[in-house]
Formats: sequence, structure tokens, C-alpha cells
Amino acid sequence: MSQQERTRVAIVGAGIVGLTLAIALNAFDKERKLAIDIYENASELAEIGAGINVWPRTLAIFKQIGVEDALIPLLDHVPDLEPRIIFGIRKGDEKNGYQVYDTMNNGGALRVHRAHLQNTLIEHLPLPGSKVTEINSICGFHLGHNLIDYSHHSSSGQGPLTLHFSGGKPSRTCDILVGADGIKSTLRHLFLPRLPNPEKYLNCYEPKWKGLLAYRGLVPKEKLEAVSPGHRALTHPGLMYSGKSAYAVVYPVSNGKFINVVAIVHDNPTNSTVWPGPWRMDVTQSEFFEVYKGWDEEVLDLIRCIDKPTKWALHALDHLDVYAKGRVFLMGDAAHAMLPHLGAGAHVGMEDAYILASLITHSSTPIWPSTQHVSEIANIYNTMRIPRAVSMSNSTDEAGYLCNLENPGLEEFKVGDHIPKELLVQTARTMEKKWAWTTTYADEDRIKAISLLEGPRAVL
Ligand SMILES: Cc1cc2nc3c(=O)[nH]c(=O)nc-3n(C[C@H](O)[C@H](O)[C@H](O)COP(=O)(O)OP(=O)(O)OC[C@H]3O[C@@H](n4cnc5c(N)ncnc54)[C@H](O)[C@@H]3O)c2cc1C
Repeated sequence: MSQQERTRVAIVGAGIVGLTLAIALNAFDKERKLAIDIYENASELAEIGAGINVWPRTLAIFKQIGVEDALIPLLDHVPDLEPRIIFGIRKGDEKNGYQVYDTMNNGGALRVHRAHLQNTLIEHLPLPGSKVTEINSICGFHLGHNLIDYSHHSSSGQGPLTLHFSGGKPSRTCDILVGADGIKSTLRHLFLPRLPNPEKYLNCYEPKWKGLLAYRGLVPKEKLEAVSPGHRALTHPGLMYSGKSAYAVVYPVSNGKFINVVAIVHDNPTNSTVWPGPWRMDVTQSEFFEVYKGWDEEVLDLIRCIDKPTKWALHALDHLDVYAKGRVFLMGDAAHAMLPHLGAGAHVGMEDAYILASLITHSSTPIWPSTQHVSEIANIYNTMRIPRAVSMSNSTDEAGYLCNLENPGLEEFKVGDHIPKELLVQTARTMEKKWAWTTTYADEDRIKAISLLEGPRAVL
């Protein structure tokens, strides 16, 4: 089938979520009826130098879309469903920190360097010549394409969509348009004003600063060994140093060659929702050090090993009550950017991709789907994805209070105060429950979404 005889799906944004969508569409496109085009603003793809948590639930998605085998050698441990430590929680904001509680689940957290994950996803795109992927869909990957607008192809407002790019790049047409263009999404800015009641969404255009800053860096293992021989992080699967209004997460990536450090501090005396500078900055080691002054030497030794830390102002979106309408879909951070306390933002976006790919490739979707048909998919996508993403986003906010020891019962304590261990254990146990989702399966949602497409009233 030529490109003209296929359903044309345009994906805007080649982050983890957009790439996952393209791979999932191809994997499920057994009837070979899709032509996928990925439009990415950047002229080349590069992920930040940092780790990311993948979970048993995420890995099950990767298995379904054919990426699992390539990913396993890149993970910090071979996946299984044995009881494993997610984070060993320690009291961190005292000179001599101490062990509080090991949060556990079955399978643990599967840690990977972001660049390795991104490369694996790129390798699995169904591009001509791919040696690792069975090619079902036609796929085009267009770097240097910055989407600036979309319009309806015909004046009826019903037909395919035309995409417009900056810099005089030729316009392109599609039947289904997916915005996976991240927290500052252009597509969200174009989509919300076209909803029937756009004034309702005025708060949802711009992400809000949540009063949190994250210091990040990768520690070379040899360097830590030299600075602090036998440091706990050299052999531990994952640590969380928790303090009042700040915490630091530490785990190995790149088969233990590096230790990923993310140190989050709550610092917003004026309760502002607008961060006044760039969202990502290079900072000095001494600034990082100053923020964690008085903390456990283990944390300070890690900071000593990060020559070029970066600082991120953490933002999140207000909850939207619509992610898709007509032929346009939002997914990942473009739809529901959330705080990182549960390590779940990318995962929830990958679930979006998994569910939407299942719906688009369903045998009932015709090659030239009418707007009405795509709208039915949009309704199911909204029904399935909004409650899930909102509940994960709320849960991640609650986890933030726990990690920062700002939860009820700990109000009276200040930075560096000794807190009775039983209160800290209680907090850590509550935190552990927040990761219960990591060992459940997105397949249940996929089956439900497909049942809705096949016969809505049978399920809801
Ligand atoms: C400190 C921190 C730690 C985190 N840890 C985890 C974790 O452990 N696990 C987890 O699941 N999540 C984690 N997250 C969240 C995760 O990083 C994000 O949810 C995820 O990367 C979002 O992916 P995305 O593909 O939706 O967006 P992005 O990665 O932002 O990708 C969007 C892409 O769209 C492109 N683009 C933007 N505008 C346009 C345009 N107009 N035209 C064309 N292309 C465009 C961009 O160039 C970019 O490539 C963490 C976040 C932070 C801040």
C-alpha cells in the first residue's frame, strides 16, 4: 500500500513518549495500514545526562511493543518479580544520617541512563533498513520540524488536518495528529483555544512552578570510590536521603558506571507559581553544597563528585479534563506534566502511547477514518487516560510531601531536627504504598479500551 492508501498519523515530538507511540503503532499495525510521520523540532536528538526509573509495569509495555529484549542489558539488574528494594530510606539532613526503612516491591525499580533508553527506542523505529524491527507501518522521521499551527484541510472542518512548520518548511497532511511535544507543548496551545469552551482552560496553557528545585548530576563510580571509599551508594540498588523540605535520590545507571543523583529542595517563601529564570541552569558545585549544608556526609561526598551540576525548576500542569478531540490528541507531558517524586511522568506517557496505539490499529479503524470515527477513539482515550493520569499526578504530589517530610504528623520538626524513628518509618511505609502501581499491568486498561471501541456499553 502506498502512503496515500494508509491512515496518516502525525506525531509531534520525538521524546520518550512520541518514540514509544511510533514503535507501538508499528508493532500493532498487523494490517499494515498506517503511515507514521514523526516531526521533531530539534535538529538532532540528545537526551540529558541522567537516569530514569522504569518499572515492571513499564517493562511489560516494552515487551508488548518488542523493545524489552534490547532494553534488558541496559538496566541496572535483570528483571524478575522477586521482592526488591526500591529505595533504602535514610534520614539525611543530620550529620550522621541513619537507616529508616527499605521500601520494597516485587521487581524493584529498573534504572537506566536516559540516552540508552532513547537510543534503544530510536533503533526500534520502523525506519527503512531497520535491522531490529519488523516493519509494518511506513515511517518518516523529520528532524528540524517545528510545528507552529494546524488547520483543517477542507472548509467543512471535518477532513484531514494540515500541519504548518516554521522556517518555510512545506506543510504536511495527516488523519490523526498527536502532540507528544512535552511540558511546553505548542500543540496544547493550539488545541485548547479550539475547544467549545476555551475560557475554561486559561489556567492550563502554561505549566506552574511548584516551588521545587532539582539539582542533578552523574557521579562516576571511580571518583566516588576515591573520594569516599566504600560509600554506600557504590553497591546499593537505590537510596533516598530524606530531610525536612529536601531529599536526594541516588541510584546506579549504565551498568553501575555512574551513580545518578537527583536532589530536590522545596524553596518558595513567596508561594509563587512562576519561576523567574530559565527552567534549566548550569550551577556551581558550591551552590549545590550550600543547599545541603549540614547534611549527612554521604550526601556531601556525592555532591563533591559532581563537577557540573544542573538545577531544574520543577513545573507541572493543572489537570486538563480533555486530552483529545476530533482528530487531535495530547499525550505525555504535553497532556499531564507532573512532578517527579514517583518517577512516573514518562511511564504514564508511555501508557498513553500504548493505549492510543491499540485503538488506532484496531481492525474497526478504516484506512481513511472519518472525523466521527477518530472522535470515538478520542472519547475512549479521554475516558481511559484522564482519570489515570490525574490520579498519578495527585499521588506524586502526595509522595513529594512524604519524601520532604512535610506530611501531617511531622509539622513541628525543622531542618536537621531529630525525628522519632517510628514517625519516619510510618512516613516511609506510606511512601511505599505509593509505588503499588508499579507491579500492576497496563494491559488491563488496554483490554478495557478495546472493549469500549468494540461495544462501549458492555464495559462502562
Ligand atoms: C528530575 C526529574 C526526574 C524524573 N524521573 C522520572 C522517572 O524516573 N521516571 C519517569 O517515568 N519519569 C520521570 N520524569 C518525568 C519524565 O522525564 C517526563 O515525563 C518525560 O521525559 C516526558 O516525555 P515526553 O516525551 O512527553 O516529553 P519530552 O521529553 O519533553 O519530549 C518532547 C519533544 O517534543 C519536541 N518538541 C517540542 N515542541 C515541538 C514542536 N513545536 N514541534 C516539534 N517538536 C517539538 C521537543 O524537542 C522534544 O524532543 C522525571 C522528570 C524530572 C524533571
